[in-house]
Amino acid sequence: SAKVIDGKSVAKQIRDEITEKVSRMKETINVVPGLAVVLVGERKDSQTYVRNKKKACEAVGIKSFDASFPEKCTEEELLKCISEFNSDPLVHGILVQLPLPRHINEERILDSVSIEKDVDGFHPLNIGRLAMRDREPLLVPCTPKGAIELLHRYGIEIKGKRAVVIGRSNIVGTPAALLLQRENASVSIVHSYTKNPEEVTRQADIVISAAGHANLVRGCWIKPGAVVIDVGINTVDDPERPRGYRLVGDVCYEEVSKIASALTPVPGGVGPMTIAMLLSNTLDAAMRTHSFK
Ligand code: NAD
Repeated sequence: SAKVIDGKSVAKQIRDEITEKVSRMKETINVVPGLAVVLVGERKDSQTYVRNKKKACEAVGIKSFDASFPEKCTEEELLKCISEFNSDPLVHGILVQLPLPRHINEERILDSVSIEKDVDGFHPLNIGRLAMRDREPLLVPCTPKGAIELLHRYGIEIKGKRAVVIGRSNIVGTPAALLLQRENASVSIVHSYTKNPEEVTRQADIVISAAGHANLVRGCWIKPGAVVIDVGINTVDDPERPRGYRLVGDVCYEEVSKIASALTPVPGGVGPMTIAMLLSNTLDAAMRTHSFK
């Protein structure tokens, strides 16, 4: 049965490496990396994500800065806040927690983040550079970066392999496909209009699934020996759990673990890598600003 790709322990290892570098940076040039987190509204899930991100920063020695706005704040207020963070030398990364309220133009807000401080990697200039063969993005979206980092840390070769990405969102599927292509995989994207997704996916040596559908990827979708990275986070009812539900990925774990050579669990796979990559992006941004190696 498939080897379990343990995102939780890889993420811990990465956070330890970051802690070490952050403290070396402080000792050598007296700079502490800083992350600004912008939260709008009172969504419980967004509040939890923001709290977890700030806690993770603290644990590795990154300083976090807060800006919270009421649900009915204006676009101008947000733009002003981001502009201040853009020019604040103590802030190296800026994160705007999504989704924003409907009356706010998300595009306008995300485009206003300086590309040097775009630790979510959502700025069109960073995505554009990611897509160009002779260019380097300054920062890459955290979740797909974390998925690829898992392949690296497990010594799974990407070059020359057939890869299929399921999903084509701006934040996961598309950048995951671009990253695989940069590493010289031959990449196909499966999305909701794809005919015979099963047949396409069965060609792949490496599958990254980010569709947001529980049990979408069945055993029969997978070539024997393929490596499967499950990005999906979905809830399914489970009366035996205290909250009445549990979290699963896109991949039917029982079936696929019998066929794949390696597979990420949900939870404990890509999830913990996302925050680790956010910390890593913040550190990278600070190191670049101060030419610190
Ligand atoms: P999204 O809804 O924006 O995009 C989903 C994509 O999947 C779309 O491009 C759609 O075409 C495709 N898709 C949907 N149903 C499909 C089907 N039946 N067959 C083929 N393709 C299909 O979602 P997203 O923001 O990209 O997130 C995807 C999943 O990853 C969600 O479950 C989300 O919770 C999870 N996620 C996890 C992390 C993490 O940290 N692990 C981070 C972000 C998102």
